[in-house]
Amino acid sequence: MFDLTGKVAIVTGGNGGIGLGLARGLAAAGARVVVAGRNREKSAAAAAELQKLGPGGALAIEVDVTEQRSVEVLVRSAVERCGGLHILVNNAGINIRKPPHEVTLEEWRRVIDTNLTSAYLCSHAAYPHLKGAGGGKVINIGSMLSIFGAGFAPAYAASKGGIVQFTRACASAWAKDNIQVNAILPGWIDTELTRTAREQIPGLHDSVLKRTPAGRWGAMDDFGGIAVFLAASASDFVTGTAIPVDGGYSIQA
Ligand code: NDP
Repeated sequence: MFDLTGKVAIVTGGNGGIGLGLARGLAAAGARVVVAGRNREKSAAAAAELQKLGPGGALAIEVDVTEQRSVEVLVRSAVERCGGLHILVNNAGINIRKPPHEVTLEEWRRVIDTNLTSAYLCSHAAYPHLKGAGGGKVINIGSMLSIFGAGFAPAYAASKGGIVQFTRACASAWAKDNIQVNAILPGWIDTELTRTAREQIPGLHDSVLKRTPAGRWGAMDDFGGIAVFLAASASDFVTGTAIPVDGGYSIQA
């Protein structure tokens, strides 16, 4: 039920943070993992690490997920070099923290393109290969801001709300092709992205600790298990969901 031997997975932004945590889970369960990011050195280091975790191995392919041509090259190279594609993880993301009246159009577009349009581009390019393989899995990364509002992150919240609805649309369209599409909604996780948030938002570190029933920030390795579940046959009747991985943050009154 949880064996990914023989499966090929692309993880965008798989070279660090949550993406690397997801990739570690997939690699340990036997998948061959394609680490897809912009930073070649980081991606090569992540692939070298993943290589040691399981029999499937790993490789790095450079991509800018905001560029259609770059995404198409990524998917084509992954299929050619690995012999197919079964799992797509749309994880790459950025945030620009400003109130709505201060966000420029360029900033708005950069966040939406990186967090939301990227999921469309990658899913669109991957679909024929997933369908051709007889089925597959798409895992999209949302956020607590898929659920809650936040005055400091309007473009990010719009992109992450959109991710949940895009997940449902794809799940509905592709169920007949045996492709399951689900979203993960991380709580507050200790990564590069939130290190800057802690610098920019006074009191954030302690307020997260106080509100999270688990009493801690999340870690990248909190994502290996959910990645394996959503990528494996264990979840074949699970589609269109948005599963919080948040230590209880979203159920706290
Ligand atoms: P990181 O900043 O650690 O990682 C972001 C990743 O995205 C990097 O690997 C980066 O790779 C990649 N990336 C960014 N832009 C592009 C691009 N244009 N093309 C290709 N890759 C790109 O952040 P996290 O690990 O924290 O975030 C991962 C995901 O989880 C994001 O979608 C984020 O919104 C989401 N999330 C994070 C939370 C947290 O608390 N940390 C909470 C909720 C959601 P490279 O540098 O090589 O381009």
